[in-house]
Amino acid sequence: MQVVWHGTNKENAAAILKEGFKPRSYFAAHLEDAVSMGGPYIFEVWFEEEFRAESWQIVIREAVPPERILRHYKVDRTSIFENKDAQRAMRLHQIKGEFGPDAALCEACDGTGSIGPEHPPFTHWKEKLKTGKMCEECYGTGCPEAGAAFREGLAEEEKRTDILGD
Ligand SMILES: [Zn+2]
Repeated sequence: MQVVWHGTNKENAAAILKEGFKPRSYFAAHLEDAVSMGGPYIFEVWFEEEFRAESWQIVIREAVPPERILRHYKVDRTSIFENKDAQRAMRLHQIKGEFGPDAALCEACDGTGSIGPEHPPFTHWKEKLKTGKMCEECYGTGCPEAGAAFREGLAEEEKRTDILGD
């Protein structure tokens, strides 16, 4: 048994409450992933199956009825305090750990990843992109090396997505 989270926008949330989830819907193992990838309207859903421990998200083959929804709420993302310097320092630490001591924050977006035009690179990111912008230099990662790795890793990401019913 497993409890997972699905994030979406207001319109989709109303439809899900009434009709449940369509096949190929995504669910995350952690709430913060559901919010950042899907949107602030959150559903907690339970499944009888457990998915692979290394998977951070799952995709369902079959439709899931609204009876499986444990609760639904909106996550209020209003920030009381944003420490940009701390966020930049953490991002730089993470990037250097992953890509070596020469890795640097993206100069175009100063490591925020949130500038430039909106364009949807993946279907499941379209909700995120409706509400935010994505730096094209770094693919929204805040680091050009990370962005390049992210592009290359899309196929791997698919493999790490568990499909219930397999
Ligand atoms: Zn950037």
